[in-house]
Amino acid sequence: MKVPSTRLAALSQEQLNSWAIQAKKRAQIGRLPDYIPRLSEVEPDGFAVQIRRIDGQIYTVGDLTLSFPLMSAIKPFILLYLLEHLGEKWVFSRVGMEPSDRPFNSLEQLQADGGFPRNPMINSGAIALSSFLPGDTGASRCENLRLWLNQQANCQLFLDKLMLDSVRSLPNERNLAIVTELASAGYLQLPEVTALDTYNRVCCLSGTVADLARLGMLLASPNNQFLSHHLKLVNTLIGTCGLYELSKRFAAEVGIPTKSGVSGVLLSVIPAEGAIACYSPPLDKTGNSVGGLFLLEKLAQTTDLSEFD
Ligand code: GLU
Repeated sequence: MKVPSTRLAALSQEQLNSWAIQAKKRAQIGRLPDYIPRLSEVEPDGFAVQIRRIDGQIYTVGDLTLSFPLMSAIKPFILLYLLEHLGEKWVFSRVGMEPSDRPFNSLEQLQADGGFPRNPMINSGAIALSSFLPGDTGASRCENLRLWLNQQANCQLFLDKLMLDSVRSLPNERNLAIVTELASAGYLQLPEVTALDTYNRVCCLSGTVADLARLGMLLASPNNQFLSHHLKLVNTLIGTCGLYELSKRFAAEVGIPTKSGVSGVLLSVIPAEGAIACYSPPLDKTGNSVGGLFLLEKLAQTTDLSEFD
């Protein structure tokens, strides 16, 4: 599993430019999500990628000024925060480590597991964990996470309030039912309404691909900031659960640990190598960015980035 530090070095800016053109074309077969009105109104052609290498080299393509909500790409960082602040034993008594073959917001999975959230990369696990962020309100919990991440990664995440209004504008019956199930099984810090508010807010933390790539570097660089065991746990869970029901197939076929978000973001972490942040809004039926997945396939084929080679 050890990745030599030369693989990303095989990448050229020209290659990336040409894959980006193909990825944008491919993205046209995807669909924008319709359950968050503001996400259904974005420019589907919007496209940006940033790749940061551990030696400082940066590759970029597309519109670097585009900002977007991280949505589920925040989930690995909720996990990292709680591992660092409360420890592994505490965290994994409240959430599991097992992949799920069900969609990201599956209530049936949670019910089948007796209310114990299966992993931190799906909604049930992230809602449960985010309810334990420090703070009395959703606003203060989200702000604590935002400030910590900005300080650790030297990035500039902000809360997109219009996106948050949009998330709240339609009732999300699935997430509501997940919260009720978690609460009755005792895996949620009450009250329920604050738990859901916290989750909705952290999903609306927003930034550019440069911010996202900097966050990815927190997980990719061996550093003294975090326990290396915690980084390993987060990266393993990204690799096994980060793309929902596509995770297993993607691990086998592409092999780059990647977390997606319904806004069309993908964040890939190549430990001791670098991070890849991509934004391309149209999604496939599993809720993952079509253009982003295409780009990662190309990268893996050409640079041997697979963790499993
Ligand atoms: N806030 C979104 C939801 O709960 C996040 C899902 C995602 O990004 O995959 O539906």
